[in-house]
Amino acid sequence: MAATLLKNCRVFDGYGDEAVPGQDILVVDNRIEEVSQSPIRDNAATIVDVGGRTVLPGLIDAHVHVFAISLSASRNETVPLTLMTARAVPRIKAMLDRGFTSVRDVAGGDVGIRDAIAQGWIPGPRLFVGGPGLTQTGGHGDHRRRTDSRYDIDYNANAFVFFSRIVDGPDEMRRVVRDELRKGADHIKIMASGGVGSPSDALENVQFSSEELQVAVREAAAKGKYVCAHTYTSEAIRHAVEAGIRTVEHANFIDSATAALVAERDAFVVPTLVCYEVTAQHGTKLGLTPYVMEKLDGVNKAGIAMLDICRRAGARMGFGTDLMGEMEYAQSYEFTIRGRAERPVDILRSATTVNAQILQQSGQLGEIRPGALADIIVCDGDPLRDITLLSDPAKNLRMIMKDGALYRNELPVSAVA
Ligand SMILES: [Zn+2]
Repeated sequence: MAATLLKNCRVFDGYGDEAVPGQDILVVDNRIEEVSQSPIRDNAATIVDVGGRTVLPGLIDAHVHVFAISLSASRNETVPLTLMTARAVPRIKAMLDRGFTSVRDVAGGDVGIRDAIAQGWIPGPRLFVGGPGLTQTGGHGDHRRRTDSRYDIDYNANAFVFFSRIVDGPDEMRRVVRDELRKGADHIKIMASGGVGSPSDALENVQFSSEELQVAVREAAAKGKYVCAHTYTSEAIRHAVEAGIRTVEHANFIDSATAALVAERDAFVVPTLVCYEVTAQHGTKLGLTPYVMEKLDGVNKAGIAMLDICRRAGARMGFGTDLMGEMEYAQSYEFTIRGRAERPVDILRSATTVNAQILQQSGQLGEIRPGALADIIVCDGDPLRDITLLSDPAKNLRMIMKDGALYRNELPVSAVA
């Protein structure tokens, strides 16, 4: 039994409005055993002197693509799966270095990479995966060239097609959702509208029929899982949420009535604002076409307004980033962007307890309370006053603990008293 005692912590527990000073936290093995205002004594514990710094639950990013090693998914470049995996390794590690102790992959990430992290072969956050995103023919995830009519794409030979699986009709949807769940998916991802990166579909396109979406939701629910959907417009969000989809991703063009529907149905919105801002800066250089850049500009402009619309309607908001390839360095900048329209504490709850709910991990992840898994970070300064501190994790994060183990620590440690 290994124990770590964090002394003199200013604790944001993932729920409260404020961080509470003068707390001790006892971690035994991979769980938080005790959080107390009075000094905890444990003769067997390694003691870390937190020195009154702010202690937060390990951050959660609910929208990443660990295998998105390059922006140009539509280029149909051939990348062997092994090369893709090797290139994903440093990206995955970098997420943990930024204080993200759990991330949800919503297209691409599979059980193999999830288990490689869990078994300790690759340093990285806990990974929740859905396998490929499901797309209709001609939908956001259909990256075939216009001249290519084959369905029999070799998923193992070309990494970029690893991201999506083409599905048409309720029967095929039933079979494919069951198949992804059979392979161990934590959730199912559906492309329910057009997108920015796809070469030939407009953002406004609503994709899949209600019946197809309902079949996916039913099959996932039968296994205790849920469906998340890529959507931009109110029409597409309504279409998805009415079919029972639980998390709507991006949602840049959501209006008040649709945000109210999301709240009423107990669904979640997962904004991913940083990807538009950063991709708009680099896109032309990286070979995006004028058509794609124009779509990008539209969603970028709508982004900040959506935060206010969702907050007013009572729609719960998670925290996501969706950064591809070369843009991935900017993950933590999402905190600064959200800070333009939201209170720091609301952003922190999005990235901890709300995202834990999304992951179906309430009580386990995203909180500093007895019984939760010991994913804990320590930040210099007060991110509840200045959220931008989290956008510079190399400078401001002084300790990162994942699953009870000190992954990174710059604080004074003393062995057993
Ligand atoms: Zn995405």
